[in-house]
Amino acid sequence: MTLPRRLAAPASTWERDFDVVILGSGAAGLSAALAARPVRSALVVTKDVLSAGSTQWAQGGLAGVLDPTDTIENHVRDTLTAGAGLCDEAVVRELVTEAPKSIRYLMRLGAAFDPEQGSQDIALTREGGHSHNRIVHSGGDRSGAEVQRTLDESAIGAGVEVLSRAFALDLVLGTTSDGERQVAGVRIGQTNADGQLVSVGVVTARAVVVACGGYGQVFASTSNPPAVTGDGVAMALRAGLSVTDVEFVQFHPTVMWRGPDATGQQALVSEAVRGEGAILFDAAGERIMAGVHPQEDLAPRDVVSAAVSRRMAEAPGGVDDHVFLDATHMGERFYERFPSITEACREIGLDPAVDRIPVAPAAHYACGGIRAELNGRTSLPGLFAVGEVSSTGVHGANRLASNSLTESIVAGTRVGRDLAWELPDKVRPDPDFEDPMAPPLLDPARLREVRAVMSRHVGVIRNEMSLSSAAGALGAIANGMTGSASTSGESFGDPELGDKTPVRPSRRTWEGTNLLTVAVAMVAAARARTESRGCHRRTDYPESSDAWQTHLDVSLDAAGEVAVDGAPDAG
Ligand SMILES: Cc1cc2nc3c(=O)[nH]c(=O)nc-3n(C[C@H](O)[C@H](O)[C@H](O)COP(=O)(O)OP(=O)(O)OC[C@H]3O[C@@H](n4cnc5c(N)ncnc54)[C@H](O)[C@@H]3O)c2cc1C
Repeated sequence: MTLPRRLAAPASTWERDFDVVILGSGAAGLSAALAARPVRSALVVTKDVLSAGSTQWAQGGLAGVLDPTDTIENHVRDTLTAGAGLCDEAVVRELVTEAPKSIRYLMRLGAAFDPEQGSQDIALTREGGHSHNRIVHSGGDRSGAEVQRTLDESAIGAGVEVLSRAFALDLVLGTTSDGERQVAGVRIGQTNADGQLVSVGVVTARAVVVACGGYGQVFASTSNPPAVTGDGVAMALRAGLSVTDVEFVQFHPTVMWRGPDATGQQALVSEAVRGEGAILFDAAGERIMAGVHPQEDLAPRDVVSAAVSRRMAEAPGGVDDHVFLDATHMGERFYERFPSITEACREIGLDPAVDRIPVAPAAHYACGGIRAELNGRTSLPGLFAVGEVSSTGVHGANRLASNSLTESIVAGTRVGRDLAWELPDKVRPDPDFEDPMAPPLLDPARLREVRAVMSRHVGVIRNEMSLSSAAGALGAIANGMTGSASTSGESFGDPELGDKTPVRPSRRTWEGTNLLTVAVAMVAAARARTESRGCHRRTDYPESSDAWQTHLDVSLDAAGEVAVDGAPDAG
């Protein structure tokens, strides 16, 4: 099976130049743009509106040590425990030390976090895996919306330029005078509101910051919004970078279950609800987490998701696709504390003050991504990766709840500040960055299949049989991809197309092709990791193994074949 090494699009018709171009407008991208802006020209390229990413949807809040009875050491220890042996302790310590500063920074920018009742102090709550109350929140469960609003206003106010409905297709590479590869810019597909291609252009820059978020949309059921389609990871793979830890997808244990046919983004029932004392029950009325873990319902997410999946497989009360979360002890206090979840419950005719909420695990967070330092630096000079698209060593094999927004702010701000201080040298784009041969694109009609395969075979519980079925099915889909066509519908540059219907370049077909690329990479890594660790659970290798306390790197070779490096038996 081969995957495209470039996203098909017509030749570019326009060009712009900036000091820094940032791909993505979530917490990570906007923090980077804001910090670079005072002294740099900065363009944020975003494929939809500013708030289309996961940031807007975050409910629980941001983790940081603000309570005098809590300590940095506690937060480090909780993060390392959740990460199941694959966190980089030095990076975790850096993040945890900066986390309270990032929260105070957001407050100075104007973010309003909820105060303790009857006090001026900020309210701190707890989520799964945290030993202390250290999560700040806003508007009850509208924490991400407040972060997004604050950063939107701050970045625009600071003079950051934004190019909306602009899809980052592929990195444009150049070569330094020393013969080193360096990023020179990015190809952009400008679309209309329906995602149809309007024009293609190139933005050249001294630094490119990838902040495209995760890839939850690779699964049929996810808490992630539609824009979270792994574009950054797929783009990095096509540019020759390897991506790390992509087998570790965190499944949130309590995503609202709205019936067997519900697909796409599903409403999240934040862990903060269990932080407030809610309890998981199966359909027969038995508790799920009692005796499973010392923290019971507030155990780390991987533990709770696996326990829920196992219980669903036993079909208690004849129900095998959901369980129930009981928060009725909160009564009507629930409405004020969790207004978004209340709204989502009411949409399906439930009252969370009196009814148990049907929930099931769904894809939530990409622990892996483009390997980067906490200051965004990657293996490719000039290229930086921040936020969920990156893999910095903070999350290891499983992210600790609410560490990701803090990581996005800390890493984004660091890269922006560093670029304000010093920019990489300029390089000219290589002349061959526009390929006259149109590589194939995924027919959007087949995207549903990709997602169904991933949810069926690569979900919370995996094994060689399920993973090889997934690899076979994805291979058949990839091999069936046809050539692409120009916006006028004519094939451009693919003489092999014959009588197959060409697929037109558009946001949907680019996203579908990226999702397929990420799916193939994830399945390859999940097959290679023959153990269970963090959020990667295999029934055929149920234990963790010391030999596997290592990271897997996935790359695409020149022909578009996926390769996995780093397995212990590979030497
Ligand atoms: C429902 C939900 C609840 C969550 N709750 C919490 C929480 O309480 N606490 C916490 O810490 N984390 C939480 N998370 C995770 C957290 O929200 C994300 O990890 C974080 O917001 C990621 O920020 P980001 O800037 O990296 O990416 P995002 O916010 O996802 O932004 C990505 C941006 O890139 C753009 N983009 C993508 N591809 C392209 C492309 N090809 N071209 C141009 N633009 C592109 C998108 O449109 C978007 O603007 C939650 C996530 C979800 C989905």
